[in-house]
Amino acid sequence: MADFSKYEAVIGLEIHAQLATNSKLFCGDNTSFGAEPNTHISPITMGHPGTLPKTNAKAVEYAIKMGIACESVIEKNNYFARKNYFYPDLPKGYQISQHTTPICVGGRVAIQLNGKTSYVQLNRIHLEEDAGKSIHDISPTDSCIDLNRAGTPLIEIVTEPCIHSAEEAFLYVTEVRKLVRWLGVCDGNMEEGSLRCDANISVRLKGASELGTKVEVKNLNSIRNIKKAIEFEIDRLIKLVDAGEPIIQQTRSFDANNDSTFAIRDKEDANDYRYFPDPDLAPFHLTENYIDSIKSTLPLLPNQLKQIWKTSLGLSDYDVDQITENKEEADFYALWIQSTKHYKAAVNWMLGPIREYLNESGKSYQDISNSIEQLNELLELVESNQLSFSNATGKVFKGIIGTNTKAIDFATTNQLIQNNSTDVIAEWVDQVLAANPDKVTEYKKGKKGLIGLFVGEVKKISKGQADPKITTQLLEQKLAQ
Ligand code: ADP
Ligand code: MG
Repeated sequence: MADFSKYEAVIGLEIHAQLATNSKLFCGDNTSFGAEPNTHISPITMGHPGTLPKTNAKAVEYAIKMGIACESVIEKNNYFARKNYFYPDLPKGYQISQHTTPICVGGRVAIQLNGKTSYVQLNRIHLEEDAGKSIHDISPTDSCIDLNRAGTPLIEIVTEPCIHSAEEAFLYVTEVRKLVRWLGVCDGNMEEGSLRCDANISVRLKGASELGTKVEVKNLNSIRNIKKAIEFEIDRLIKLVDAGEPIIQQTRSFDANNDSTFAIRDKEDANDYRYFPDPDLAPFHLTENYIDSIKSTLPLLPNQLKQIWKTSLGLSDYDVDQITENKEEADFYALWIQSTKHYKAAVNWMLGPIREYLNESGKSYQDISNSIEQLNELLELVESNQLSFSNATGKVFKGIIGTNTKAIDFATTNQLIQNNSTDVIAEWVDQVLAANPDKVTEYKKGKKGLIGLFVGEVKKISKGQADPKITTQLLEQKLAQ
């Protein structure tokens, strides 16, 4: 049995994120997902002789946005290089990538690990084009090639070997996905391959400074699979090292059917790609002004918003985490608090009835952005005790959302306005006590829990109009006599 506590895992992740541009990195071909195979291709994508690629400025802008959000240094002098290799889905025989000048250098991504903020250090973020797809499950005898994806812009986000557990890797990828979506630079859709991850994993004795031999698990297409693959590899590598077996530097693949990995190839020595600057693409220089202009378009990031809302609105960690889960939700909240002071109540409404309504109706926050006035009226009715929270969220909200009806009108028509006149409630209380003499005796003998039953009865005969607080007070007074 291997002594796992003697070892430390070291993990570095490479995430490929497809940039959400309409066209490809070096030509105008459409980048949308799911088109008929080989319809989004042009002579440039196909690498025909005599064609000239041209850099997509939007892709450069998106890469810079991500770099700024990750606190990277933006490289001003950039060029694209050809990375030469043969592969059936690579029509040009080379991939255009960045080599010695990644557009973003260094940087870091904050994660919440065991209740504390820690940082995953980035090595770089570089721009490159995607390859096409080989499809092996259409024909029993042939492999099919779909080149629609070839030339789609990617950023590759590469961490330092600084991650030490599957959990940490999981949190990091979750954060990166949230960030690219927040910035709108990638849709973050892992099933469609917009975000893919390669995990490099090694183990070493705790305290050792040299890195162990790594294996690389390729093309992990869900966050769950990333976690499972890393867990499996750490276990496998520690057992090997502990048994004195050598680790072979390998490329491996994940088998989701049994949560294990298998070797695809032993890693031949790197650097046989014959990189050289692409002679068809001019180097490009980014000015300070240009970088600043992109900086100024960046939205507040989730962590910045969390801080602001925690300190200025007094919200809890839990509430700000929830409300900054995605940008649509945060934007809606930001809009809402421009017209209400009930900050915490608005969070409760968003996390409860509003999320439920959007899930059920398939609507988006955008769709309800003009319902804020109605929501404010509802909040006021609840805060002023005219409407119970359960009637407000259950009946009134559902009854008026998406219509022009005012909350007060709907609540009045449906007799949901609470009657807070003590006289009226006192009458209901008397009726209930008179109708339940046995229970009253039991209560007076000490069965104080019956108060809930009396309150419930008053609620029933008042059709929910009696304010529960006043009801309870009156009941206690009368039962004490
Ligand atoms: P390659 O040339 O094989 O792609 P790189 O040096 O570019 O390797 O690193 C790729 C990723 O692997 C980076 O995220 C890096 O941090 C990580 N990495 C490199 N060496 C190790 C190692 N020994 N153990 C774990 N991760 C590693
Ligand atoms: Mg690699």
